[in-house]
Amino acid sequence: MQEMTTDVIVVGAGPVGAMLAGELGRAGVRPLVLERRARPGTAQKASGLGGRILDVLRYRGLLDRLTAISADASPKPIFPFGGVYLDFTGLDELPLHAMAIPQAEVEELLAENAVDLGAQFRRGHEVVAVAQDDDAVVADVEGPDGPYRVRARYLVGCDGGRSRIRELAGIGFPGSTYPEVNRLAVVAVHESVTVLDDGGIVAPGVGRVEPGFTHTGTGVFALGRVSSEDRVMFFQTTENDDTEYDNDEPLSMVELGDSVRRVLGGEVALGAPTRLSRYQFQDRQAENYRVGRVFLAGDAAHLLPATGAAMNLGMTDSVNLAWKLAADIHGWAPADLLDTYHLERHFVGGRALLQTRAQAALRQGQDPAAQALRAVFGELLADEPALRRMGALVAGTDLRYPMPGTSSLTGTFAPDLILDTDQGTTTVAELMHAARPVFLDLADRADLREIVEKWIPVDIRSAGTVDRPADAILIRPDGHIAWAAAIDESSETATAELSAALTRWFGVQS
Ligand SMILES: Cc1cc2nc3c(=O)[nH]c(=O)nc-3n(C[C@H](O)[C@H](O)[C@H](O)COP(=O)(O)OP(=O)(O)OC[C@H]3O[C@@H](n4cnc5c(N)ncnc54)[C@H](O)[C@@H]3O)c2cc1C
Repeated sequence: MQEMTTDVIVVGAGPVGAMLAGELGRAGVRPLVLERRARPGTAQKASGLGGRILDVLRYRGLLDRLTAISADASPKPIFPFGGVYLDFTGLDELPLHAMAIPQAEVEELLAENAVDLGAQFRRGHEVVAVAQDDDAVVADVEGPDGPYRVRARYLVGCDGGRSRIRELAGIGFPGSTYPEVNRLAVVAVHESVTVLDDGGIVAPGVGRVEPGFTHTGTGVFALGRVSSEDRVMFFQTTENDDTEYDNDEPLSMVELGDSVRRVLGGEVALGAPTRLSRYQFQDRQAENYRVGRVFLAGDAAHLLPATGAAMNLGMTDSVNLAWKLAADIHGWAPADLLDTYHLERHFVGGRALLQTRAQAALRQGQDPAAQALRAVFGELLADEPALRRMGALVAGTDLRYPMPGTSSLTGTFAPDLILDTDQGTTTVAELMHAARPVFLDLADRADLREIVEKWIPVDIRSAGTVDRPADAILIRPDGHIAWAAAIDESSETATAELSAALTRWFGVQS
C-alpha cells in the first residue's frame, strides 16, 4: 500500500479540525486534514458562535473576517438558558458575547485560513484504521483513488460525536442520550397568524403564544423572532416523543406540524421554512482526551445536553492542543506538556457539562415543582452579580486552568491591555496574532528579562499600560497566563518562580 509521512494528521474538517489545522499552521506545522465528505458540509447546525472563542479569534486577527461575513454581528443581550433567559439588557458590558453566523460559513473561513497557513485538506478521504507504536501513528485511509497509509508523529480525532478515532483508540465515552426530541424550524408564519410587537403570536385554533418558552403538559414550545422586519420566526418543540420517526430522514413540515399540535394543542399555519432540524441531546465525555499519539478534540471528546456552547468548547480544545503539538514537533516541549491537554481540557469540558446539565434540569418537567425551580432561578437572575456570573459560566470566561503559581492571574486568559511600546501603541490581542509565547514586561524589570532571554521560543516585549495588573506576565500561545509577577515583587522570588514556569511550559533553556 502506498505510504506517505506527515507531522500531524487531523481527522475531520468540521469547525474543530479546521481551527486546529489553522493553529498548527500558525505555529509552523503543516498538518494533513483528512475529511471523509467530498464537499464541505451543508447541514444546518449551529447558527452562531459565542463565548471565549470570540476573544481567541480576535487574538488571531480572525474575528473581523468573521464579522464581515456575519449577517448580524450586533450584540445579543438575551440568551436562552434551559427553560429561562439570561437577560443582559440592563448591563453596561455584556458578560457573554455571541455572533450570528451559520456553522458552514465558520468552517469555510477556518479552512481557507488554514490552507493559507500551509495546511493540506484532502476531502473525500476517510480514515478507516489507526495503529500506533512508540515512534509513530499510522492511519489507513480510503481515498477516491483507493486505499493508502499515512505515518505521522500525532493524530487528532476531530471527527465528531460518533468518532471512529475514539473507538479505534479504545477510549470510553460514558454518558447518556436524553429522551426528549427537539424539532427546530426557522419559518415564515402564514398571514392568518398575527405577529405581535413583543414577538408573540396569535394563531387561530391556538390563541396567544408568548415569546420565549411555553411549558405545556405535553412539552415545551420555544418561540422567537428572527428579524423585527418580517414574519420569519424561530419555532422549536421539545417533547418526550415516543411517536415513530426515522432518524435518518430529515424533519419534514408534516412532522413538525404534528409535534406543534401535540405540544400547543392546535395548529399554527406556517409558510416555507429556511431551516428544519431534529435533534436529541447527549451528555457524554471521553474518559481520556489522549492515548499515546492519538488525541481527541471537539464533539469527539464531549457532547453537551444543551445548545450554544459546543463550538466554543471544541474550538478552544484545538487552540489548547495546537501549540503543544507544535512545541513537541519543534523539539522544545517539556516532557509532560502534551499530558496537560487532557488535564486542562477535560476539566473545562466538565465545566461545560455542569452548566448544560443545569440547563437540562431547568427545561425538563412540567409539574409545579419544575415550574417553581424555573421561577426561583429566574428570580435569582434579577441580581446583577448572579447574572454576570451565569454569563461568564456559559461563555467559559470564568475559567482558570489548574496550574502551579501563586498569582491569581495564573491560568486565566490574558486581558487585552493597551500597550505603549517604543514602536507605538499596540494591544495584547495584536501580540498574540503570531501564536508565540510572549513575556510582557510592564514595569521595566531587567532582572526578569535577563532570565527569559535564555528561552528562544519566547518573545520579549516591554510596554507601559494603565493600571498594570502585574509587573510582568508570561503568556502561552493559547492566550493563557503561565505566570505573573506581583507588582513590586522581590527579584529573588520573581526570578525563581519565572525560571520554574519557563521550564514547565517552554522546556529547558537554550
Ligand atoms: C441542529 C444542531 C444545532 C446546533 N446548534 C449549535 C449551536 O447553536 N451552538 C453550538 O455551539 N453548537 C451547536 N451545535 C453543535 C455543533 O454543530 C457541533 O458541536 C460541531 O459541529 C462540532 O464540531 P466538530 O468539528 O467537533 O465535529 P463535526 O462538525 O461533527 O465534524 C466532524 C467531521 O469529521 C468528519 N469525519 C468523521 N469521521 C471521519 C473519518 N473516519 N475520516 C475522515 N473524516 C471523518 C465528518 O465528515 C465531519 O466533517 C448544533 C448541532 C446541531 C446538529
